[in-house]
Amino acid sequence: MRKNKWLSYIILCLLLINIIAPIPVTHAASLDTMVNTLAANTLETSTAQTGNGLFQQLFDLVFNKILGPVFNIFSGNSTSSPSTNNPVTVKPIPPTNNNTTLKNRVIVVDPGHGGSNPGAVANNTRESDNNLAVALKLRDKLVQAGAKVLMTRNSDQTVAPEGSSLSKELEDRVTLANSNQADIFISIHSNSNSDANIQGAMTFYPTGKSSALASAVEKAMIIQTGAIDKGTSPATFHVLRNTSMPSTLVEMGFVSNKEEAAQLNSDSYRNKLAQGIFTGIVNYFNNN
Ligand SMILES: [Zn+2]
Repeated sequence: MRKNKWLSYIILCLLLINIIAPIPVTHAASLDTMVNTLAANTLETSTAQTGNGLFQQLFDLVFNKILGPVFNIFSGNSTSSPSTNNPVTVKPIPPTNNNTTLKNRVIVVDPGHGGSNPGAVANNTRESDNNLAVALKLRDKLVQAGAKVLMTRNSDQTVAPEGSSLSKELEDRVTLANSNQADIFISIHSNSNSDANIQGAMTFYPTGKSSALASAVEKAMIIQTGAIDKGTSPATFHVLRNTSMPSTLVEMGFVSNKEEAAQLNSDSYRNKLAQGIFTGIVNYFNNN
């Protein structure tokens, strides 16, 4: 209470010195009138304060219009021009993911082979199993990043009805991508060679078309896995030739090579492959 009394006294003195003194006041009533007028003209909240007394209006006037600006002058250097006087630099928050890059992108992920067609089989490894395992991991990463993923198959099955011709099987994969106006088409395979020493990852793109997607995927996949880089090549595979959007076919490694077959069969290496392909896709969209 003692503090409030002194505060009121100081405020009244300030008010008298700064406002009332230059203005001739002839009687007590004019003080009330003048403050009301000043408050009505200068305070945004004056209409809400019509029920308050003279003292409340004096408080508002002094704090909002006299002390407020005075304090702003004293502290103005740090608030009005922080870029020149504030030594603290705020680092921008780095992006935590690539959500905006892949947001609403329609991506077809095509695990090669499946069902009655296991693809290359060697060293106790089936190509169709490797392809599906990596494709499902890739799907999860893409979905998490906001992409709309369409899988040509989600399990160990053929895409076309079992017993259909190979051309029908491949055509159904292409149709899924073309009929949904996919942004890109990614076909995932494992390689095989009669020479068991050959190993490494390679990526194909449709002959006569851009190699940008294949290059981005190959590069990121090699960085992520440390596999031998067998580069990118043009190819006339059915799914590359007939898809109407940028497409690529990834050969992740050779099941015919004992070491690489073991890697393709391991969950940790499949994670690296999926992460590498995912990063390649993100990089592709960031640069194209
Ligand atoms: Zn294959």
